[in-house]
Amino acid sequence: MLAVVVARGGVLPLGAEESIAEADGQALIIGGGAKEAAQAVTGASALWWSDTGPGLRAGALARVLVGVLADVPLLLLPASPDGRDLAPRLAAALDRPLLAGAVAVRRDADGVVRAQLPRLDDRLLLTVECARPAVATLLPGVRAVPAAGRHPGPRELPLPPLPRLPAALSSSAVSAWARDVEVVEVLEPDPATMDLAEAGRVVGGGAGLVPTGSGAGQGRALFGLLAAVSAALGASAGATRVASDAGWIGYDRQIGTTGVTVGPELYVAFGISGASQHVSGLGSPRHVVSVNTDPSCPMTAMADLGLVTDARELLVELARRFGVPVPEEVRP
Ligand SMILES: Cc1cc2nc3c(=O)[nH]c(=O)nc-3n(C[C@H](O)[C@H](O)[C@H](O)COP(=O)(O)OP(=O)(O)OC[C@H]3O[C@@H](n4cnc5c(N)ncnc54)[C@H](O)[C@@H]3O)c2cc1C
Repeated sequence: MLAVVVARGGVLPLGAEESIAEADGQALIIGGGAKEAAQAVTGASALWWSDTGPGLRAGALARVLVGVLADVPLLLLPASPDGRDLAPRLAAALDRPLLAGAVAVRRDADGVVRAQLPRLDDRLLLTVECARPAVATLLPGVRAVPAAGRHPGPRELPLPPLPRLPAALSSSAVSAWARDVEVVEVLEPDPATMDLAEAGRVVGGGAGLVPTGSGAGQGRALFGLLAAVSAALGASAGATRVASDAGWIGYDRQIGTTGVTVGPELYVAFGISGASQHVSGLGSPRHVVSVNTDPSCPMTAMADLGLVTDARELLVELARRFGVPVPEEVRP
């Protein structure tokens, strides 16, 4: 089993460490700045890198990787944008099934690959068995990562140069999976609208952000302000179930066992108690900040920084400092 991780500009994608842990610590880091990215891996038992240049030409890369990875029975990629682009092409190139968006994958002693795949908006967890080599992608934020341990030191795996296909191809000359689009520009995702599961920074709001007795309009206005301040911080807005049930924010922003599982580097919690159903959807954020009037609540207990203050007042002050307009109805 091997994790195949595509780096960009020397940076590992979200979910890289989790995929490496799921693959028992064995990983190949490819993409631009692969060596630097490999050096940033904190837990691995065997680590290789190959710098395949900037940008991702997934079709050409899959053609090259076939020769190197054909004997590895289970290839696991983080379900990052690049991982989701490369995985189906690798599967097609190797003539293997693709187990997409798994929350757990393993290959047992009997040689059977077993994956758990959430479907129907996470309402169904399918266990899929596959008695032949496979390619899988692992959702970020679904498993813990072992604490940083001893590192074997990454080794270079030389790969042949990526093939350049002629611009004009007859439809039968090259398989569909091997064709690459021409990348004109890569735009950073808008934190306000991007998939919460892929956000590197998340600012969450809970019941404590909205004063008791407020109307739904005030709750929605406060969560609108939370989203605007989050965007100013380069973060996406999330919420507890109390907030989504109250209609203050959409269900797509609810974090937890019955919501989205996130995997940010930074999580800032405004007025969130830290109930287990919420915290279980947080993944393993590197930094947690809790804003709460109760210094002993579970959210503050697990935070690196606890700010014991009124969440709404702090949010309004942050908005003022970032130049974000504050609606009349949410002013303290
Ligand atoms: C089957 C099931 C599934 C669930 N799934 C989920 C889920 O997916 N996601 C989820 O989030 N929850 C889920 N829940 C609900 C969960 O148990 C909690 O009820 C919920 O997470 C609590 O949300 P909260 O922290 O916003 O509210 P509360 O628990 O009410 O906490 C509010 C916090 O705000 C603080 N506070 C109060 N006033 C202020 C102020 N002025 N300034 C700052 N802080 C203040 C309080 O001290 C408190 O810590 C689920 C429950 C069940 C039973």
